[in-house]
Formats: sequence, structure tokens, C-alpha cells
Amino acid sequence: MKWKISILGTRGSAPITGRDFEEYGGDTLCVAVECEDRLFVFDAGTGIRHLKCSGKETHIFISHYHQDHILGLGKWPELLNPENRIILHLPDIRPGERGIDVLSSFFSPPFWPVGLHQYPAEVLLVTMGETCDVGDLHIAGISGCHPDGVRFYRLYDEKRSFTYMVDCELPEDSYVYEQFARNSDLLIIDGQMDETDLPMKKGWGHNTMLQAGEFGKRCLAKKTILVHVDVDADDGMISERRSRLQSYYPTADFGKQGEAIRL
Ligand SMILES: [Zn+2]
Ligand SMILES: [Zn+2]
Repeated sequence: MKWKISILGTRGSAPITGRDFEEYGGDTLCVAVECEDRLFVFDAGTGIRHLKCSGKETHIFISHYHQDHILGLGKWPELLNPENRIILHLPDIRPGERGIDVLSSFFSPPFWPVGLHQYPAEVLLVTMGETCDVGDLHIAGISGCHPDGVRFYRLYDEKRSFTYMVDCELPEDSYVYEQFARNSDLLIIDGQMDETDLPMKKGWGHNTMLQAGEFGKRCLAKKTILVHVDVDADDGMISERRSRLQSYYPTADFGKQGEAIRL
């Protein structure tokens, strides 16, 4: 059976609404991969509101604990269904700090009134190690490059692979990450900045669109999708960037909220 990969949120740093954001979307990051009777979800930004579990066991892999990647959990309607079983895989990304504790503190007073265990759904918080197997599928993780840390993920079986590298500011020598993402059928990667943003925003933890496109080419990804675009960029600006991106990297594109890709 094919995988169905749904881009449910594309935006970085904060959500946004309005007519100028309808084409590429305004929800923060969430990508779901549907594989037979299971759902694999990468990040739980506000885009997770569009995700339905539909009776499938749901595994959510959090990249890191910046708000835009966990903000959608508190108002996700699927947490209100007692028949749902949701497993949150949480990496330890800073020394001496457990991911489980970080997420739990975000979902407790004074930040949020209800703990994740108080929702009707069965919610399990587990520590994500370097690898994780669920049925016939494998998930590998690698420490990424972003302030406060991040975990990149690769989901694969014998036939297909999908790599998720958000949030990400690639180092000058990105060989280790090229190996990690090599030959992905689909690479979803941080392409937040326009090249003109770089002088001011170097070290903020994000790629430019051309860095992201070049990385996709180097690691031989069949398709590269850029996400985490800043709220300062409306649909018109992203379309203009897209033309420039594809003049260099024809297999790269900007992600659109609501888009689905089958592998
Ligand atoms: Zn982010
Ligand atoms: Zn971040």
C-alpha cells in the first residue's frame, strides 16, 4: 500500500490567517504520513487541527519544543475521543533535560490549564531514542542544527523513504545530513528565508530557500518541499520565490497546506 503524506501546516514561528495566506496556508507545521493502519505525524503545530485519526494508532514525532511545533496539541479535537490511542515520541535535545518534562510543563499551569493525560484520548509520552520501529516501518533520528536543539527524522521501509528536517540551519559542511537524507523519495526541509534575509538572520536556525534547494539536489532527493516560511511572506511573495527556486532546482517546491503526496 502507498503512503499518503499530507501537509497540514506549512508556516514557521507563528500562525497567520487572511486572504493573502490562503494558497500556501497559515497554520504552523504538521505533516502526516498515513501507512495502512497507522499514522505517523511530524510536529504538532496548529496544522494538527486538520488531522483525523480515523481509528488508526497515531505516532507523533516532535522535532523540538519551540512553540510553533507543539502549539496545536491543546486544541486538537482528536484528544477528546476516548477511542484514540496517541503516542507522542519526544526527543531529549538539551543536556540534562527530558523532552517528556519539557512538553509536560508546556501543557500545565500557568501555560495551559489541562495536562495531556487529562484529555479523554489515551495519550502516551515516550522518549524518542535514535531509532524506533513500528511494525514494518523504521524511524531514524539525528541531532540537527538549530538553537536549543532539534531532531531530524527519516521514516523508511524497504521501498520508500521520507525525511523531515525542520527547523534547520545547515552548517557549511553538511555531509552528515546529506548521508542521513540520501535518496529520499520526499524531503521536507526548512526553507524559511529569502537570500536577502541572510545577513540579518544568520544564526537564527533556518535555511534560505536556495540552501534548502541545493541540499535536496546534493542528497539526491527525488522531490524537495520547503516549509517553515515566515509570516512576513504572503502568497504573492512565496510565488515569486518559487519561480526563482525552480529556475535553479526544478524538483524543489514550496509546500502548500492541504497538499497530499503519494509514495
Ligand atoms: Zn519553528
Ligand atoms: Zn525552532
